[in-house]
Amino acid sequence: MRGNGDDPIEDFPLGDGTADTIAHVICPYCGEPNEIAVDPGSGASQEYIEDCQVCCQPWRVTVAYDGTGAVHVHLDAADDT
Ligand SMILES: [Zn+2]
Repeated sequence: MRGNGDDPIEDFPLGDGTADTIAHVICPYCGEPNEIAVDPGSGASQEYIEDCQVCCQPWRVTVAYDGTGAVHVHLDAADDT
């Protein structure tokens, strides 16, 4: 714990440039590797839809940052039919 009380983002200290902004994932449809941009400024836990850069199928992307700023990304097939 830092003694500096002047830090406006101590509740979520990932906006200081050390958190991951790129994640490498494997498409659940085509199996191809993709590199996606992730935004630590949007929170420690995120979920959104993004399309595969290779086959254009929609993913449900689940993003979670741990306390060290490392990102963990999970993909599910979004067209759950
Ligand atoms: Zn794909």
